[in-house]
Amino acid sequence: MRVLVVEDELRLADVLRRGLSEAGHTVDVAHTGPEGLLAAGAEAYDAVVLDWMLPGQDGPSVCRALRSAGNRTPVLMLTARHAVPDRVAGLDAGADDYLPKPFSFDELLARLRVIARRAAPEPLLTADDLQIDRDRRTVTRAGEAISLTAREFDVLVLLAGRAGQVVTRYTILDEVWDGETDLRSNVIDVYIANLRAKVDRPFGRASIETLRGIGYRFSLGPA
Ligand code: CA
Repeated sequence: MRVLVVEDELRLADVLRRGLSEAGHTVDVAHTGPEGLLAAGAEAYDAVVLDWMLPGQDGPSVCRALRSAGNRTPVLMLTARHAVPDRVAGLDAGADDYLPKPFSFDELLARLRVIARRAAPEPLLTADDLQIDRDRRTVTRAGEAISLTAREFDVLVLLAGRAGQVVTRYTILDEVWDGETDLRSNVIDVYIANLRAKVDRPFGRASIETLRGIGYRFSLGPA
């Protein structure tokens, strides 16, 4: 996991950085509320460990700012306070869980795992006039149902879920084929061609852009 630690107590921040790294995670550390907010918006983290008392902006306020900006990264709030209203306030601010200080490192790891696992993607993915239901595995465009094979669906979810970003051929093979297919094979081209024939052409759209030799980009808006 990629974890952001926002903690102003230097010793504790250092303990967290080392412990999480040793547990195999990639860790960035911020020491103030505003610094944490900036970092959380700049990178895609799997979880944020957020201290309650921070200089500049406190934890609950950082969490509220993240949530109102649409950032849904799981947040584990650290608090030295034990009063129930405070814990409730933390959860009200949009934190996923809280951990009172002092805590055991194993417990922190366990709670992080739980909130990261719970943060499954939203079932409904909407890009443009395209609606993808991840749970039901159905796709509609402009209200019309589109029938896709399981793998076509997976490729589409991958591309549309990162609309506006380049998705490399390597990423597609890794995530949809689990790396089982040779990178040189034309299997991806075949799937992209199928998707264009089903998802774009009948609707007069061209949402899947080819970046030759690199990958693909799902674009929003009219063709
Ligand atoms: Ca603090």
